[in-house]
Amino acid sequence: MKPIGIYIHVPFCAKKCPYCDFYSCSYNLKSAEKYTDAIIRDITNLPKDIYADTIYFGGGTPSLLPINMLNKILTALSYSCNIINPEVTLEVNPCTVTKEKLFHYINIGINRLSFGIQSVHDDELKLLGRIHTWKKAEEIIKSAQIIGFNNISCDVIIGLPKQNVYKIKTTLNKIAELSVQHISAYILKIEENTPFNTPDIINILPDDDHVSDLYLFMVKELQKLGYNQYEISNFSKIGFESRHNLKYWKCHDYIGLGPSAHSCFNGERFCISSDLNKYINSTEKIITDKSPYNDDEKIMLGLRLTEGININNFPNKKALLLKKAKLFQKLGLVNIENNFIKLTPEGFLVSNSIINEFI
Ligand code: SF4
Repeated sequence: MKPIGIYIHVPFCAKKCPYCDFYSCSYNLKSAEKYTDAIIRDITNLPKDIYADTIYFGGGTPSLLPINMLNKILTALSYSCNIINPEVTLEVNPCTVTKEKLFHYINIGINRLSFGIQSVHDDELKLLGRIHTWKKAEEIIKSAQIIGFNNISCDVIIGLPKQNVYKIKTTLNKIAELSVQHISAYILKIEENTPFNTPDIINILPDDDHVSDLYLFMVKELQKLGYNQYEISNFSKIGFESRHNLKYWKCHDYIGLGPSAHSCFNGERFCISSDLNKYINSTEKIITDKSPYNDDEKIMLGLRLTEGININNFPNKKALLLKKAKLFQKLGLVNIENNFIKLTPEGFLVSNSIINEFI
């Protein structure tokens, strides 16, 4: 049995960012205590024979959760599951941590930090409703490195209003100057139920062609800076790919705890309601799929990775996959190497359409 990943959704945020549709609510100590008790209840109820090698605190803003609560959760996991050589990631909002907190993180076993940086330009941070400045972010990343973190990721957003190649180049270069090991770079997507979904914002967004240019520039620039692309939106120094996130794309099992968390475990996909109070008061899980990881899903997820998919793993579809791949290869959207079909950076930009042709 392959070791699984454990995802813990921490639903608290200091302030809601206007582009974000992840489930989150405001923080208060009482709710955080009740939330932690509910997570520990669910950890205690996990099957006893679980092996896990990644733990990921995502959110929301996990760095808002007090150290003693994070520690309780990690201790409960170590008692209830077999945790082997784990990658333990905590998502961090730069304004919610101090040097002291970072020091405690290392001591309780957190060994990877994922900072929500988004941009080094304060005007872009302001537009995104972020509460930090680049100066603050830079300081806290340097502190984390001095304290001993040697696996740090930074999130970046591209496709912002008025964003040009120069602005992206500065963001990528300033982050790379800090020698972080991993960069996740997402294209801004306007989500339906968010304050960004208004004509005021939509009308000033760059058009699709401009966003494509920015993305292709970013891929090349990151390559020059020593970050290998291993997924549509993820780049790392060699050996620092996110072990946890790779489980999603490689169709390995994972269990998600906390409101709005998703799981794929033992042949079922299930999720938890996006409501903190409901989560605290019930252990209800909603089954969403009883036959996950079929061929179509494996193709869809596998093609997000630069390593692509091995056509020999899909004997029933091999002929169709090859036929379509050859057509896309002529357009520069796909590479066929040995038995692998891989999307090129240009292919990633239209991955949904390509994948629809394959499945
Ligand atoms: S982007 Fe991050 S900090 Fe902002 S609301 Fe979403 S989860 Fe919270």
